[in-house]
Amino acid sequence: MLENGRRWRAWSRVAVCVMVLALASVSDGEERQVVVLDPGHGGADVGLTGSYGTREKDVTLALALAVRRQLGERYDIRLTRESDRGLKGVRRTERANSFHGDLMISLHTGGGISRETNRIALFVQREKKGRPMAQGGDGWDEGHRPYIPESQALAAVLKRSLSLLDGYEGVGYSGVPLGMARGAGMPVVLVEVGNLTNPREEGRLESPEHLRRVAAAVAEGIEGFLTP
Ligand SMILES: [Zn+2]
Repeated sequence: MLENGRRWRAWSRVAVCVMVLALASVSDGEERQVVVLDPGHGGADVGLTGSYGTREKDVTLALALAVRRQLGERYDIRLTRESDRGLKGVRRTERANSFHGDLMISLHTGGGISRETNRIALFVQREKKGRPMAQGGDGWDEGHRPYIPESQALAAVLKRSLSLLDGYEGVGYSGVPLGMARGAGMPVVLVEVGNLTNPREEGRLESPEHLRRVAAAVAEGIEGFLTP
């Protein structure tokens, strides 16, 4: 009995070691890439409001949650906010960095004086020409500078998938001074999905079915960029 007991303990120790090793190798193989989604605005900052009262901050959160559902378990998906709360631009970037994101997509809607215009616009941090800033420059900008080419590549794949959506006049793409990209240690693209000031688009952005289609296009772009 004692002999059997010893043997059993020895075997169970071996079994535990094998299990630990197996689990370690599984988690190594399954280290997921981190996708940061940033729903624009929130809290007192409602963003744009459509003529029927749709608020940009609600659309951006619904869209981020829809993108997360689309991407499922394949990536480690982090949101800068998961509820209706305000968040300063710097805090969004700090969060993305603390998540060690492989990319960050900030979600917004567009707007304008025209009630007819309806387009998608992509923005990345503008590339500064010339030498890196010596004195007086802020380190934040330099932190993101190495990621600008990757941001441009991410915007290019997003442009391809978003261009296939119906009902938009096209997908614009430009480099601008993008405050929230400052200091972000990852590629960052800001996406404006449709014009909330266009009443027809406002109706579509209220529809879960339309948001699902937009989310699928964003998810396809993310997968296209992250899949080697
Ligand atoms: Zn916005």
